[in-house]
This record gives sequence, C-alpha cells and structure tokens, in this order.
Amino acid sequence: MGTTMNDDAVQPKTMGQQFGRRSWAEPWKIKMVEPIKMTTREERERAIREAGFNTFLLKSEDVYIDLLTDSGTSAMSDRQWAGMMLGDEAYAGSRNFYHLEANIQKYYGYKYVVPTHQGRGAEHLISRALIEPGDVIPGNMYFTTTRAHQELQGGAFVDVIIDEAHDPQYEHPFKGNIDLDKLQAVIDKHGAEKIPYVSLAGTVNMAGGQPVSMENVRAVKALCDRHGIALYLDATRMAENAFFIQEREAGYANKSVAEILKEFCSYTDGAWMSAKKDSLVNIGGWLAVNSQEVYDIASNWVVVFEGLHTYGGMAGRDMEALAIGIEEQVQDDHMRSRIGQVRYLGGLLEEWGIPIVRPIGGHAIFLDAKRFYPEMPQDEFPAQTLAAELYLDSGIRAMERGIVSAGRNAATGDHNRPKLELVRLTIPRRVYTQAHMDVTAEAVKAVYDGAAGTCGLRMVYEPKYLRFFQARFERL
Ligand SMILES: *Cc1c(COP(=O)(O)O)cnc(C)c1O
Repeated sequence: MGTTMNDDAVQPKTMGQQFGRRSWAEPWKIKMVEPIKMTTREERERAIREAGFNTFLLKSEDVYIDLLTDSGTSAMSDRQWAGMMLGDEAYAGSRNFYHLEANIQKYYGYKYVVPTHQGRGAEHLISRALIEPGDVIPGNMYFTTTRAHQELQGGAFVDVIIDEAHDPQYEHPFKGNIDLDKLQAVIDKHGAEKIPYVSLAGTVNMAGGQPVSMENVRAVKALCDRHGIALYLDATRMAENAFFIQEREAGYANKSVAEILKEFCSYTDGAWMSAKKDSLVNIGGWLAVNSQEVYDIASNWVVVFEGLHTYGGMAGRDMEALAIGIEEQVQDDHMRSRIGQVRYLGGLLEEWGIPIVRPIGGHAIFLDAKRFYPEMPQDEFPAQTLAAELYLDSGIRAMERGIVSAGRNAATGDHNRPKLELVRLTIPRRVYTQAHMDVTAEAVKAVYDGAAGTCGLRMVYEPKYLRFFQARFERL
C-alpha cells in the first residue's frame, strides 16, 4: 500500500509504528455468519445471460462476493439488533421516532426531522417542496435518484463540480468541491430567483466517493447567502466525508468525526439522507431542515407518499436501529476501519497496475473501464461489459457507473456521455473480511489481464426512468 497518500491515517497511532509493520483490525468481532455460495463458470454464464448482462438483475444467491452497493447491505451491531426488539409499532408518535429525531438533531444539528422509507423518498419531498418548473439546481455532480426527482418536478440539474472531478487520475484531496466560478456563472445566467437551492453532496458518489472540504462548504454558503439561495446537503455519506476532512484539512486533525460532521452541516439549511449507507441500517432515510416553512410542506407531503410524519415508511424497530446506527457511524475507530478496508483493496489493485480512480474514495473502488478496454466505443458499454466479465470470472458482483447510469438527455434523447466510464466495487460496512478483499483483487487482475479481445454489449431493453437498474443487454 506504499503508493497511497493516506497510509498514516489508516494506521492507529500506537507505539508499534516505531518498529516497522504493525497491523490493525476492525473494532468488532463476528457473532453470527451468513453462508455464501460459490458457483461454477457454467452456472455463472447461464445466470448473467438470464440477467441480460445487468448485475442488478442477478439473483443474489448466484453471487459470491456482493459488491453491488453499500446501500442497505451493512451488518448491524448487537446493540442495533437489541434495539430492533424495542420497536414501538404505534401508528402515531412512536418512541423510536423521538429517539431518531433527537439523534439527528444531536449529530447533524438540524431542527425539524421528517422520516422517509429511504433516501429517494426524502429527495422526492425536498424537490416537491422547493422546485418550480423551469428552475435550475446547481450541484457537485449529479446522483441518479437526486437528479431524477429534480427533473420530475420540472427542474434542470447543472453540474458545478470542479473540473478535476471528471479526471480519474487527477490527485486532489477534495475532488468533490464545488467550483465557485461555475456556480457564480449559473447564478448570473439564470438569476437567483430561478435557483431554489444548491444541491451539495458529501463524498460525491459518481466521482468516486470524493469528499468536499470544510473551506469549500463555507465559501459556497457565503456565495449562496449573498444571493439569498438556500444550500441543501445530500448527507448520505457525510460521516465518511468528515473522516477525510479530519485526515486532510488543516485545523481538523484533532477534531472528532462527530464534531466535523456537525460543523459541516451547520453551513447548510437542511439535508436529505439515505440511512442505508453511513448509518449502518438496512432500510431508512430522512429529510431534516431548519426552516419551519419547508418542514410544514414536507411533513404534509410525507403523509401522502410515505406514511405519517412520525414513521415515514419505516417500522418503529427500523427507526430504533437507525437512531443507534447514527451513534455508531461517527465513532472514529469505526470510520478508520471502514475506509481502511476500502484502501486495502485499492492498494492491492494499484500495486498490480490496475487502473482505478484516484484518490481512493470512501465507500468503493472505481475501476476505469475505458482503460481496461481502450478500443471499445462508449456506445458498446465498456463499464457494463466489465461488470459482467468480473461476475463471470469469480461470481463477484459490481455496478456500472458510466453511460448506462447517465441515462439520456431529456431534450435531445441522445445518451448522456459522461467522461467517466467506471465500474464500482462497493464495500458493504462490517460485512466482508480482508480475505474477501484479496479474492476480489485477484479476480479484477484476472479480468484485466484477459481484457484484450473482449466484446462489448448491445442494449436490447431500455426502461424510461433510471435505466441502469433494469436495462437488458446482449453480447455483440
Ligand atoms: C443511495 C443514494 C441516494 C438515494 O438513496 P436511496 O436510499 O437509495 O433511495 C441519494 N444520494 C446518494 C449520494 C446516494 O448514494
């Protein structure tokens, strides 16, 4: 792992450092196991063809190591499972809601909380509450469901992330930052009254899990304030973002992840959250805001689309597990081992010369599919192809994040053509061991070494919305 800029941060600061190698391990031990199945190449050939070469359409039973997503795939702690038994399943006013509300207020600092079934439920509510047809929403690179809900309300997303984020090799400690000149240009062009809010994501998923600096959020907030524009945060992986600030930004080395998280949120007017990521639960989400007016609108719509404003689609027990997960996600040693595991996998791949997005982000390793298949045109879906090949080799499931995920331009109907054509190996929290990471790295190497002559794919079924979930392909 000698090539990463982050070696020191993943090592606990013990006296052992003076004597050469001292390993570190996760701050937990395993109490219950779930068997997984190993398949033959023949079985995998059949499974991927039946799935239309789309890893989203594979049966999970046919998968050996599942790195499709870190969403809802975390292992809960014994405390969280104990919390599940304390579910208060009252329709209204569940005590678990008040515990959840108190922890969001305590750790994120927002005033009003609306629970939702997961992140996109909250995205729906905030988009519906704030966006008018013809509005423009600037943000630091799009996320699929976020943009879909902004567009469904008649808004248009405009990317204002720094240019470096689109270059998979560019080394930048905060590659998720907003480019203030780009944001100013959008305000000048459309006028502040057409911009209901700026949509800021902590660790930018589509850029490779890249963080935003505290300095950047402060500057964005100041710019928004000058124009009377609100700033809302996609807090889905904001605790991971806080870890990167602690590691890389001057003045934060001695602050805890919890302190950094709260300070960052204090520069924003509210946040939506997919609790299925940072918060170590299998389902859940929320919207939290400081404006009572926005809260009133959102907490009215939530009863139409999700459920009463004291459960929003979650069972009482789910809210309890989430309230506890919020406490666990900000523990510094948890975050160090979570991101340390991602870096372990990335470090192996780098050592072996496999092209991945740099710097290594918080939740995943992103393979640069364009460099696996330099001859393959983007219209033949190199990242989709690579994800299928990886499954075929070893039963490892990854996710396409390239032209298929980017969808079509609403006006022209042509494919959006992102610069990044990536395959995401997403690491679930507290689920796999270092040996699973070794097996994964070896499989990626085998696919990379055998990449020459690989055929691309043709799309044979394309759903209208969020096509990457359900599209089907055939080999060319
Ligand atoms: C997953 C995710 C969402 C959507 O949340 P769901 O819980 O999947 O509905 C929104 N933003 C980001 C950055 C995400 O990763």
